[in-house]
Amino acid sequence: MVTSPDTLAHGPGNAGLPAVSAPQIEEALTANRFSLAYQPIVTTSQDALVGCEVLLRWEDPDLGAVPPHAVIPVAERTGLIFELGDWVLGQACDQLRSWKGQAEWDDVTLWVNISALQLADVGFPGRVATILREAGVDGTGLCLEVTESTLVDVRSQTSLAVMAELRAMGIRIVLDDFGTGYSSLSYLRHLPIDGLKLDRSFTAEITTDGSIRPIVRAVTDMAHALGVSLVAEGVETDAQLAAVADCGTDVAQGYLFARPMPAHELARWRAGWLRRPERSAVPADDATPQLNIGRLPDAPAPELARLLETESEALFAEAARRIYTSSIPERFATPDFERARERWVRALLRDSRSGDYDATARVTDTLFRQASAAGATPLEQHLFVTSLRLVVTRALRRGTDTRREVMAAWNLFTALEHRLLSSLRSTDRWIPGDLRREEDAA
Ligand code: C2E
Ligand code: MG
Ligand code: MG
Repeated sequence: MVTSPDTLAHGPGNAGLPAVSAPQIEEALTANRFSLAYQPIVTTSQDALVGCEVLLRWEDPDLGAVPPHAVIPVAERTGLIFELGDWVLGQACDQLRSWKGQAEWDDVTLWVNISALQLADVGFPGRVATILREAGVDGTGLCLEVTESTLVDVRSQTSLAVMAELRAMGIRIVLDDFGTGYSSLSYLRHLPIDGLKLDRSFTAEITTDGSIRPIVRAVTDMAHALGVSLVAEGVETDAQLAAVADCGTDVAQGYLFARPMPAHELARWRAGWLRRPERSAVPADDATPQLNIGRLPDAPAPELARLLETESEALFAEAARRIYTSSIPERFATPDFERARERWVRALLRDSRSGDYDATARVTDTLFRQASAAGATPLEQHLFVTSLRLVVTRALRRGTDTRREVMAAWNLFTALEHRLLSSLRSTDRWIPGDLRREEDAA
């Protein structure tokens, strides 16, 4: 393991991160290998998009995907954070410019993470002003997220002066990962900030640990008393959303709404999010899924993706076992069907991550054609999807408290069943093969 001063040592909490060196970061910058992902920040009432957090991504041909936690500490230690930070800001400002004049994006702010080191640099406001000017945007579209750091005290005179200068440019500043640092009440009172982002460890436990809810309520009240906003990070389930909203938190971010995505996917995500049926109400946890529509879901279903990733073989085997007590499993086990099934699972996985289920619907047609070619009757095909629906939703209900995910999976498989039905409605191939042969013989 590389542990030179330029390289991130795999200390506690960093286990499994690739070790990267300063020259590798420099090379990635030169070769344009960094990119940005955008994660929506929404009101807890789910009626407005407030902004998007900008997150660093690095896809390296040798190292693979290098997460920001592997990059930022090395960049901070080696001084590269200034160049990298300016690059991120430049890209974010270009994105803001591309939204200019588009009414629906005009008021969407970009929340850019900066290092506390950047805040301690007296040259930072000047550089930000240049970046804004070159991009042709003003500071009101930017919100800077800073995490309390062990490297530098954000309460230093320099940092306070830098914050004041940035805010004078219309830029907002929020304290990220709030609740994990050393913030005290008196210190918060004097910090020139506009908001707090509550660390996602609170959200993660709000429905399971009874002591968390009063804390989140108190922090929300405190934020409002200080005149700053509070964002709940890491909201993954409907129950967590309902809990943070109940505590008075009015802005949230997390996989429940969307995963970080490339900028060009935001418009499609937003259209789907605004269209979704359950947007006005936070559904109860214990409601049973109902068979209703044959519509494909219009939002990502990360839990479903995770389940398919880890257990698709077992789920398929279980679905097949349920329908084949006496019949012929080979119809769903030919090499062509296996290949079509692999493509189907890949499409299901990708679409449950992105929320765009068109590919799944297309690949499903191929899947059923292959099953049909192998001799599976339409009734058998239909039974197969139906039992897969039951098996998958049952597994989801065991593994998560996300009712939205269970409903999304249920709707997805129902929609695929409807698709199969409507493609067969005009044919007379409904009678199972064995019976048909008997009829023919009669
Ligand atoms: P952060 O600023 O607290 O960003 C939120 C992190 O939580 C992101 O991880 C995001 O992908 C992840 N996340 C969002 N919603 C959920 C959820 O519902 N569940 C879970 N489990 N995770 C969720 P990411 O992208 O790996 O970034 C990690 C950290 O790296 C960021 O934490 C931020 O501190 C830092 N970072 C990222 N980009 C930059 C950058 O451009 N500059 C600087 N200085 N730091 C950055
Ligand atoms: Mg952040
Ligand atoms: Mg955070």
